[in-house]
Amino acid sequence: MYINGEWIGEQLEQFEVINPANEEVIAMVAKGGEKEACHAVEAAYNAFETWSKLTAEKRGKLLANWFRLIETEAEELAEIMTLEQGKPFKEALNEVHYANSFISWYAEEGKRVYGEIIPSSHENKRILVQKQPVGVVAAITPWNFPAAMITRKVAPALAAGCTVVIKPAEATPLTALKLAELAERAEIPAGVINVVTGHPQEIGDAWLKDDRVRKITFTGSTKVGKHLMRSAADTVKLVSLELGGNAPFIVMEDADLTKTIEGVMASKFRNAGQTCVCTNRIYVHESMEKAFTEKLVEAIKGLKVGVGIDRTTDIGPLINLSAVEKVKSLVNDARDKGGEVLLGGDVVDIEKGFFMMPTVIANVNDEMLCMSEEVFGPVASIATFRDEDEVIRRANATPYGLAAYLFTENLSKALRLSERLEFGIVGLNDGAPSIAQAPFGGFKESGLGREGGHYGISEFLEVKYISIGI
Ligand code: ADP
Repeated sequence: MYINGEWIGEQLEQFEVINPANEEVIAMVAKGGEKEACHAVEAAYNAFETWSKLTAEKRGKLLANWFRLIETEAEELAEIMTLEQGKPFKEALNEVHYANSFISWYAEEGKRVYGEIIPSSHENKRILVQKQPVGVVAAITPWNFPAAMITRKVAPALAAGCTVVIKPAEATPLTALKLAELAERAEIPAGVINVVTGHPQEIGDAWLKDDRVRKITFTGSTKVGKHLMRSAADTVKLVSLELGGNAPFIVMEDADLTKTIEGVMASKFRNAGQTCVCTNRIYVHESMEKAFTEKLVEAIKGLKVGVGIDRTTDIGPLINLSAVEKVKSLVNDARDKGGEVLLGGDVVDIEKGFFMMPTVIANVNDEMLCMSEEVFGPVASIATFRDEDEVIRRANATPYGLAAYLFTENLSKALRLSERLEFGIVGLNDGAPSIAQAPFGGFKESGLGREGGHYGISEFLEVKYISIGI
């Protein structure tokens, strides 16, 4: 663990980090709990005193140092990520660059935290509005993007003047620790970034109870997000949540087939389908079904499933055995209810590792679990529709509202339908909308707040109104 600029935890109980491609133990990591969680808050709280008073320019320079070191060690970080998480090396390298883009973007954006002077209705008063960092931030992150989910939170928090305590997912602590090592080398002062590994509930509860922690920022399951939100109420912490999704991918009758297939491949199969913005259910206009399905099956046949560290692999393993079992059960449920498995549908027949075949299911209806539950695996489920109103109603019939995808070449229809979709992100003829300067976040039970862009930094700022009598 990295707390207050020191590497600690060797004497503690350890937990195993497993390579999901071969089930081997690749590292032992300290199992921290309440004590270490409190120690980290103490460090972050003390560091806040000086870090928050630095100019945004100075903080930006330190963030830029961190950015350059990550750039230099991108391949090593990507390898660590592939080993603990499973994603193909080329995707891991893309993630490192994507993760780093938040650091460079916020290193600059910190300089643009503007206040306001508002005209008063009293001649002898002036109204001044300032933005100030909220204080200590607790970031709890998932395993599917071991680097980006950290930098997307930590970069704006640090740029705003906050200090952070981070708890990475148990499956992927090594990428987080490597990022902390690079932050140390970048001379980000002790206590500004702290990484606590170990027991999720104990660490989370310690942070939730502590009134010095002013903000919880979380990416993960809706269940844990709701728990954090409830518990944050006791000390009225600010809360940002990036939770589950159930992204519809809508193909209108006038969609461009080539663009559509590119879009669905990007949004469905990235990270073997384990992203919260992954296409979860495909709605194709009935006139396009045959052509779309044929082309999709053809494209998927070209994907190479294998060990991620092999540079030619397109699809790596899922994170663990229960992930594989869950995906298989969703496929079986669809099959039992009349779905037609056109491709895949089972685990890959090799001795070790958690590999699932890329799968296509046709003839799907909304009663099948794969249309309402987050699949988090390489399964493309295809349903058909007849008209606009029907597909919008079906797309919106979910408690989730993170990403939706819409493919059409008709401009009016594109805007009309985008506005009717109850989702925080719409990929309009675009299967990969995430980018540092844009606001990422969900409607409904998909979350609260936004990450990315100027929206992302405002999540770490309090607004102070100073009323001046003159
Ligand atoms: P996933 O299904 O993606 O693993 P989780 O919500 O279980 O999603 O995990 C996301 C993050 O939340 C991980 O870092 C995990 O350790 C953490 N976590 C899980 N349970 C709790 C909890 N009770 N309190 C705090 N953090 C938790």
